[in-house]
Amino acid sequence: MPRDPVCGMNVRDRDKSLRSEFRGQTYHFCSDRCLATFEQDPDTFVQLVEDERSQKQRKGRKQAPRFERIE
Ligand SMILES: [Zn+2]
Repeated sequence: MPRDPVCGMNVRDRDKSLRSEFRGQTYHFCSDRCLATFEQDPDTFVQLVEDERSQKQRKGRKQAPRFERIE
């Protein structure tokens, strides 16, 4: 489910949602207000999404050594 990078809401219907393309990535928005906010300063919101993504990856890596110890 795509996520609105401005308000953090999940966008249910990605086919009908508002969207904007930025640096080859498509972003979905719940309302034209969020879309307008994003287009005023796309760099900020793209950075927020990227930060969140890399935090999740770091969490995944932390769990890996546990499995190694069990073996
Ligand atoms: Zn929104």
